[in-house]
Amino acid sequence: MNYINTILPIPLQKLFTYKITEAEADFLKPGMRVAVEFGKSKIYTALVYSIHTIAPEGYEAKEIHQILDETPVVNDIQLKHWEWIAKYYMCSLGEVFRAALPSAFLLESETEIQAVAGFSKENELSGEEFLIFEALQHQSQLSIFKVIEILGKKSVFPIIKSLIEKNVIVVKEQIYEQYKPKLVKYIRLKEEWNSNDKLSELLETLSRAKKQRELILRYFQLQTGKKPIKVSKLQEDSNCSLAVIKSLVDKDIFEYYFIQKDRISFNGKSSKIKELTEHQEIAYEAIKTFFQTKNTVLLKGITSSGKTEIYVKLIKQLLEDGKQVLYLLPEIALTTQLIERLQYYFGEYLSVFHSKYSMNERVEVWNNVLENKQKAQLILGARSSLFLPFSNIGLIIVDEEHEPSFKQYDPAPRYHARDAAIVLANHHNAKVLLGTATPSVETYYNAQQGKYGLVELNRRFGDVLLPEIELVDIKEKHRKKRMTGHFSDRLLEMMNDALNEKEQIILFQNRRGYAPVVECETCGVSPQCPQCDVSLTFHSFRKELRCHYCGYRQAMRHNCGACGSEKLNTKGFGTEQIELELGELFPNHKIGRMDLDSTRGKYGYQKIIGQFEAQEIDILVGTQMLSKGLDFGNVSLVGIMNADTMLNFPDFRAHERSYQLMVQVSGRAGRKKVRGKVAIQTFNPHHQILQQVSTNSYEEMYKEQLDERWQYHYPPFYRIIKITLRHKDFNRVDEGANWLGKSLTSQFKENVLGPTTPAISKIRNYYIRHIIIKIPQKQALGATKTNILRVKNSFQAIKEFRPIKFNIDVDNY
Ligand code: ADP
Ligand code: ZN
Ligand code: ZN
Repeated sequence: MNYINTILPIPLQKLFTYKITEAEADFLKPGMRVAVEFGKSKIYTALVYSIHTIAPEGYEAKEIHQILDETPVVNDIQLKHWEWIAKYYMCSLGEVFRAALPSAFLLESETEIQAVAGFSKENELSGEEFLIFEALQHQSQLSIFKVIEILGKKSVFPIIKSLIEKNVIVVKEQIYEQYKPKLVKYIRLKEEWNSNDKLSELLETLSRAKKQRELILRYFQLQTGKKPIKVSKLQEDSNCSLAVIKSLVDKDIFEYYFIQKDRISFNGKSSKIKELTEHQEIAYEAIKTFFQTKNTVLLKGITSSGKTEIYVKLIKQLLEDGKQVLYLLPEIALTTQLIERLQYYFGEYLSVFHSKYSMNERVEVWNNVLENKQKAQLILGARSSLFLPFSNIGLIIVDEEHEPSFKQYDPAPRYHARDAAIVLANHHNAKVLLGTATPSVETYYNAQQGKYGLVELNRRFGDVLLPEIELVDIKEKHRKKRMTGHFSDRLLEMMNDALNEKEQIILFQNRRGYAPVVECETCGVSPQCPQCDVSLTFHSFRKELRCHYCGYRQAMRHNCGACGSEKLNTKGFGTEQIELELGELFPNHKIGRMDLDSTRGKYGYQKIIGQFEAQEIDILVGTQMLSKGLDFGNVSLVGIMNADTMLNFPDFRAHERSYQLMVQVSGRAGRKKVRGKVAIQTFNPHHQILQQVSTNSYEEMYKEQLDERWQYHYPPFYRIIKITLRHKDFNRVDEGANWLGKSLTSQFKENVLGPTTPAISKIRNYYIRHIIIKIPQKQALGATKTNILRVKNSFQAIKEFRPIKFNIDVDNY
C-alpha cells in the first residue's frame, strides 16, 4: 500500500496520512498539493510532505480526492524553513502553510468564489465550467460546497483552478484595487541652465524668438515660488501654446518630468546606479569583507547617509552573479518612494510582493519566483515575502531592521521576519544585511558580541549635518502662557521661519483622532467602548466616538450619558486636533494629515505622499507613519508635538522605541540641502532619552537600556515567551490563568511573571490575561518549549479550560 503524509492548514501539531494508488505514488512529490477530506466531509488543500508505504496505526487512511499540481509549488528549502518556524515559534506546520501560500492556492470547501465582471467568452468553457459560470450569473457568490452540489461530484478543485486561470472567477477576499495615479507633467530647466546668472545668456540665445523669451521669463518668475512647476501651469500663466514649450524642450533648454508615476508596473529600461561617495564606498567594501567571515552584517548608518545606494550596489552584484535577492521592508504601503527608486535601477528584475495586492498578482509573483524568472530575481516585500519559493537566494536585506512591524502578532505563526530571514539565509548559504540608523538593542548587542559584522556610516550624503534638535519645555511655556493651543511660541517661530523660506514642515503626534478621552465636567464619567476596556476616541470630522481596538463607533453625544450634563471636555489630543489648530494658525497654507484615518481609502498613502512631494502641502501632520524612511527634499523642520506619552508607555521597550521613533522622524528634516531643525515639545526635557535623542547619543542610550535589561531580566539576556489567554467569561479566564500560572511557576519558578491583567483588559468582549516566561541563556530552549507545550496540553485537557483561547508568542519584542 502507498501513503502520503500531508500538511493540513490547521493548528494541529501533526501530519495527516492519506492513501494513494501506485500510479499516484509515482507521480507525487513533496511540495505538491492534493485535495483531501478531513473531519466531517470538509475538503481542504493539503501539501504532500512525504510519500511512503507505512500504514497509519489505529485508523484506516482515507483516499485523497485528487492531485492539484503537476510539479511541486513548494520546495525542500521552504519546508525546512517552515519546520524551523513551527518549532521555534511554537505553532503547527499547518499554520505556517496557511500563512505562506496565497489564498488562491488553498481552496477548501468553505472558500467562496465570485464572478469576474465582463467575461464573455462562454464558448471557451467546458460543460462543467459553464455550469459554474451560469450559476454565478444568478448568485453573487458560491461556496465550494455549493459547487460540489451543482456538479454532483467532489473533485471540483481543478475546475475552480481552471476558471481562475481563465479569469472567469476569483476567490472572494477583500477586493484590492490597482493604483493608477494621474500622470502629472512638470517642467524644469535642464541642469546646465539652472542658475540666475545663466538667464541673460539664455535670453541672448533666444533673442530672435520672442515667444520663447517671454516663456523663459515667466518660468523664472514662477520658479521663485520654489515649487515644482506643472506644464499646464506654465502654459496657462504665459499664455503660450504647448508648441512653444515643446520647442524649448527640443532645444534642450527645458525638460519634462513626472513626480508621480505608476508605482506598480514598470516598463522602462533600468538606469545606471549611482556612484558611491568615498565614505559609502568604504562602508560597501567593509560589508563585503565581513561577508567573507560572517553571515550577517549590521549597517548602522545615520538617516540619509545613503544606505539605500549601498544596498543597490550590493544587489547589482548579486544579480550579475545570477542570485536571487530578497529586500524586506517593514510596511510596504509606506515605501512607494523606495519601490520607485529600486524600479529605476532594477525594473526588469524586480517584483513587489504585497499582501494588499490582488490574489492574481500574488500568485503571479509566487510562480515567477518558483520558476526563477528574470522578473523575480529581486523581490521587494513585507515580512510575508519570506515564504516565497526561493531556490537560490544570495542576499537578504532587512531594511529598518529595528521596526516592530517585522513581528507578526496575530495569527500564528508569530514570527519575527528579521530573525526568520537570518535562518532562511542559512538554508540558502546566503548573507543578510541589516540596515538602520537606530538598531534594536538585540541586534546591536549581537554586533557587539561579534555575532554580526558591524559597519558604520556616520555622514549624511552631501555632508549635510544631522538636524539640530531643540527640546522645548512646555511646562514652562504653559506657566508663562506662551502656548497657543498645543503649539509653543518657539515651535511657531520656527514654523514661520521655515514657511517664509518656502520650506515644508512635518509635525508628529502619535495619536489619531481629535482626543483620546471625552470627559464629563460635572460627574467625571467618560464614554467607554461597550466591547473593550478603553475610552472612546473623539473624531471631530465625523463627529463620532470610536474605539481604536475593535472599530466600534457611535455619534458624538451632546450631553453626558451618566448625568445628562452638557459640559463635556476632551483630554489629550490627536492629529485631527492639530490639523484644526493649524488651519486657524496658518490659514494661508495648505495642511495635510497622514494617519490611519486619512489613508484608509484607495491608495491614500500614495496620494498624500505624492501631494507632499509635489509641494502641494506645506505642513504635514501625522502619526508614526511619518517615520518610515520617507525622503522629501524640501522639509527643513520637524516638530514633535508631545514626546511624553510614548516615553511613559508601560513596556520594557518603551524607551528604546521612543528613541528610535524620534530619531527617525527627526531624520526627515534637512535631507538634501541645508541642515534641518527639529523641535521636541515635552513636559520633561531632562528625561535621559530626550537628552540622548537631542545629542544623537545612540551608544549611551544602548548602554543604559542594556543595563536595565540585565537588571530586570529582559532580552537580550533572557528570552521571553508570552502566553495570552482570552475568553468572554471573566471568571473562566481568571481561573484558567491562575491554574496555568501555578503550573508554570512550579516548573520555571521565579522566571514566571503573572498572570497579569493587561492595561486594556478586555477587547471585543474577550477578557485577557498574560503570563510571561523568561528563559535565561543557560536554560535549554528546546526543552523549555517542550515543557510549556506539556503544560498547555494538561491545561487543555481540563474541560472548563478548553474553550479558552491560548496563544503562545515567542520573542514577544
Ligand atoms: P538612507 O537610506 O541612509 O536614509 P538614502 O539612501 O535615502 O539614505 O539617501 C538619502 C538621499 O541622498 C537620497 O535622495 C539619495 O538618492 C541621495 N544619495 C545618497 N547617496 C548618493 C550618491 N552616492 N549619489 C547621489 N545621491 C545619493
Ligand atoms: Zn472596542
Ligand atoms: Zn456627567
